[in-house]
Amino acid sequence: MSSMEIHQEQSSGSAKIGSNRPLNKTLHVVIVGAGLGGLACAIACRRAKQPCDVTVVERVPEMIAIGSGIHIPPNACRVMQHFGLVEQLKSAGGYVVQDFTLRRYKDGNIIVEKPLGERVKREYGADWIAIHRGDYQNVLLDAAQRKGARIMTDTEVVDIEQGVDESEGRQIVVLKDGRRIDADVVIGADGLWSSMREFVLGRPMPPVETGDLAYRGTFTRDQLKSFHDPRIDGLIEKSNVQVWLGPSRHAVFYPLRNKTEFNLVLLVADDLPEGVRTAQGSLEEMGKCFDGWDPTLTRIISCLNSALKWKLLHFKELDKWTKGPVALLGDASHPTLPYQGQGAAMAVEDGAILGVLLTRLQERNLSLSPKARNGQLTSLLQLYERLRKQRTEINVSGAVLTREFYHLHDGDAQQERDSELSKLPAAKWQ
Ligand code: FAD
Repeated sequence: MSSMEIHQEQSSGSAKIGSNRPLNKTLHVVIVGAGLGGLACAIACRRAKQPCDVTVVERVPEMIAIGSGIHIPPNACRVMQHFGLVEQLKSAGGYVVQDFTLRRYKDGNIIVEKPLGERVKREYGADWIAIHRGDYQNVLLDAAQRKGARIMTDTEVVDIEQGVDESEGRQIVVLKDGRRIDADVVIGADGLWSSMREFVLGRPMPPVETGDLAYRGTFTRDQLKSFHDPRIDGLIEKSNVQVWLGPSRHAVFYPLRNKTEFNLVLLVADDLPEGVRTAQGSLEEMGKCFDGWDPTLTRIISCLNSALKWKLLHFKELDKWTKGPVALLGDASHPTLPYQGQGAAMAVEDGAILGVLLTRLQERNLSLSPKARNGQLTSLLQLYERLRKQRTEINVSGAVLTREFYHLHDGDAQQERDSELSKLPAAKWQ
């Protein structure tokens, strides 16, 4: 029997909190946000011998395949292997990236070509996959639903009530339409602008501007073919990621959906006023950022038909990720510059680990005393935070270092970088 109850009453008096739900041996986990991290957590909580009850609450009305490309590096791909989803990802257009090529901005000359493909699989035990973000999310959504997670779309969480006496052990998830959901554990997987983060920290804590912004988009094979440029035609057929490195900016290009679509991300200095998250720029302004760059790249850039600017934000490190049996994951707790292609990968790892910890606790005779159960869950989520914080922090600071490395201006440091990179024997790449 499901332990979930959704109350229709609008009142929120603390005396009512969880008052009509008996404690159950099965944990009810409510996940706020059906992004990649939230869905990975849902799958992990459902795939154990004794699965948790899982409700994922997502505010968008429909899960449609929007967005552009994303990498699933081998650490995240191992989670997908564990879930048994790698073949589905490949059927959905995901492919194994064969090489990662760094190029000089002026002429597109190759600085180094890093082999991925078989080498990554051999060394890390999983593939490095590139895929359309919407296709990735659909594979996870489908798996979560098949495993029995409830997905409530068009539903926004506005608050959590933990009760006057924390030993009571119940969390009430308050929805915008006034409905209330009883939960044992709440996972805030609600992304960069998380409201759950404010709940956990007890104060607003907006992410910090990094000084960079991204333009990104996809376009078709026909658009690229129309140039009749042999260099572009050569790039179209490769299952590679191409990166042009230049002063204070770089560009990333790779195919999607069986080379019928192509992804381009341009990372440049942020010129938006403080506090502005996104703004429509002009195609001309965007093109100007790459004046004097490799003509192959500037042709590819001319395929973009929108110049939406996305400010890139991050955190150094949050004081805490948990409050009693409520925890944050993914961009809600450790947003990052995307320069290591690890933001979603870290969110997926968070979700997988939470699922393992919660289901293991449940298998080991979960206490039926509300106070003891609350204590067990609180300690478990603190353990999750200790396990994850250092690793995610290394990624956030590593992405900042990668920016410095990628964005060097022409000069001694840049020449040294390029010369060292070009001397690296392929097998020594980390
Ligand atoms: P999100 O994907 O943001 O999901 C949060 C969800 O919560 C959303 O669906 C939202 O609608 C929902 N939500 C929010 N508030 C509420 C509420 N109150 N109630 C209900 N629902 C709510 N990462 C990689 O691993 N590889 C890459 O190649 C990569 N490339 C990137 C390129 C760019 C340009 C950028 C900007 C990022 C990139 N990232 C990449 C990072 C990655 O996109 C994020 O780290 C990842 O999407 C975070 O996942 P999440 O599940 O934490 O949050």
